Amino acid sequence: MSPAWQQIADGVHVWRYPVLDVNVTAVSGDDATLVVDTLSTPAQARRLRHALAELEPRRLVLVNTHAHFDHCFGNATLAGADTEIWAHDATRRRLAERPGRVVAEAAARHAGDDPELADLATVTLLAPNRTVHEHAVLDLGGRRVQLRYAGRGHSDGDLAVRVPDAGVLVLGDLLEVDAPPQFGDAYPVSWPATLGRLLDDATGPVVPGHGGVVDVGYARRQRDELAELADRIAAGHAAGAPVERVAAAGPFDLPTRREAVARGYAELAG
Ligand SMILES: [Zn+2]
Repeated sequence: MSPAWQQIADGVHVWRYPVLDVNVTAVSGDDATLVVDTLSTPAQARRLRHALAELEPRRLVLVNTHAHFDHCFGNATLAGADTEIWAHDATRRRLAERPGRVVAEAAARHAGDDPELADLATVTLLAPNRTVHEHAVLDLGGRRVQLRYAGRGHSDGDLAVRVPDAGVLVLGDLLEVDAPPQFGDAYPVSWPATLGRLLDDATGPVVPGHGGVVDVGYARRQRDELAELADRIAAGHAAGAPVERVAAAGPFDLPTRREAVARGYAELAG
């Protein structure tokens, strides 16, 4: 069963898809409808396209917040020949240069996570065709949205979307709600400052990559938890402490901390 759109501001709607609890955000303009993230499979993306019809969309413009499968594998289903698909340079590079490997890796790791993901290996991956280095502004007709890269965090190419006239900030997996942050491809030492820069001028609803929409206060508290973890990682690394000892205490659950500390040590080792 398809979820309902949640209106979080004038002309800004969130579709919270139950498999992996992943969010799609739609921003409506007079000429174009921005769709942030495209889900994991053609079947899910077809369901999304069907749901988008309720919003009476204009020309679709797609954004991938980062290169993980649950945010970009629906691209080929939603995009037509002329559809703009925006992402950070690093995200486009990963998806354009090694699409077969990206699909195979995602299938190997996640095809068993849910019956809907069983045929992940057959996905045709359409890479982004518009890139952002640090900042871009898109005119949707009567409203502008900002695409912003603020540094490494959950991945090396996390793109945030800001809708200034609505006060909305869409953060992809730089923010996680109802589940811990995911560190598998992360830069745990850089992450809190990256998130902090994006939250500096935030006021209204904040959309995480997964889980419920929250306010800026929630996002700042998660930034603080990420900062505490980063401090522990830096201190442990400086002292030559083993990963397991550093991961024994701190925010989030133990498996999450273990992965974060290992990734953080690799980040600090360059
Ligand atoms: Zn992710």
